[in-house]
Amino acid sequence: MRVVLLGPPGSGKGTHGKRLSESLGVPLVATGDILRQAIAEGTALGKSAQEHVKSGRLVPDETVLGLIETRLGRRDAQGGFILDGFPRTVAQAEGLKSLLGGRPLDLVLNLVVPTEVVVSRLRDRWLCAKCGAIYNASTAPPKVAGRCDVCGSALTQRTDDEPETVRKRLEVYARETAPLVAYYEREGALRNVDASGLAADVYAAIQRSIGKAA
Ligand code: AMP
Repeated sequence: MRVVLLGPPGSGKGTHGKRLSESLGVPLVATGDILRQAIAEGTALGKSAQEHVKSGRLVPDETVLGLIETRLGRRDAQGGFILDGFPRTVAQAEGLKSLLGGRPLDLVLNLVVPTEVVVSRLRDRWLCAKCGAIYNASTAPPKVAGRCDVCGSALTQRTDDEPETVRKRLEVYARETAPLVAYYEREGALRNVDASGLAADVYAAIQRSIGKAA
C-alpha cells in the first residue's frame, strides 16, 4: 500500500506511522528523520538543511524531492510505503505524483488534532536518540524516568519542539501544508481521522480507514 500521513506537528504521524509500517510490512519514510540523521552525520544534505530544520522552516522542495526520489527508488519501497512528513507543499505533492507515474496513492490519512493539543503534546514529547521510540511525559511516560523502555538509552527532546519554534512550525503548516487537505480531497484519496484522543483509539480508527482502502 502507498500511504501518506498528513497532519500538523504532534498529530501522531511518527507514532502511528511506525506501527502501520510494521503491520503492513512496508517501510516508513519520514523526511524529518532522514534530515535529522543527515544533520547528525554532517553530510552535504545535512549541512544544507540544518538552518531550515533548526528554525522550523521548510527545507527547499528540490532538496526534499531529491531525497524522496532516492528513497522510493530503493527495492524495499517497491511494494509500498508510508510517508510521514512528506509532501508538505503542493509542489512536493505534484513532484510525488510524477515520481509515482501511473501508480496512485491508496490513501492519504489526515490526522486532525486541535492546536492546543499538539502544543501540549510537543511540550511533553521525549524521544530515544538511539532507537527513535516516542514517549509523552504525561500520557505515555517511560517505565523508568528518562530511559527508553525498548533499549534503555537516555531520552532527549527535539530542539525544534521548543515553544517558539513550535509556533513557527504550526504557522508554516497552516500556510504551506494545510492546502494539501483540499488537494488530496480533489484527488479522492483523503480520509480524515480524529487524532486527538488516546493513541490506541486513534490507531484503531486508522486501521478502519486502511481496511476500507485495501
Ligand atoms: P518533522 O520531523 O516531520 O517534524 O520535520 C522536522 C523538520 O524537517 C521540519 O520542520 C522541516 O524543517 C524539515 N522537513 C521535514 N520534512 C520536510 C518536507 N517534506 N519539506 C520540507 N522540509 C521538511
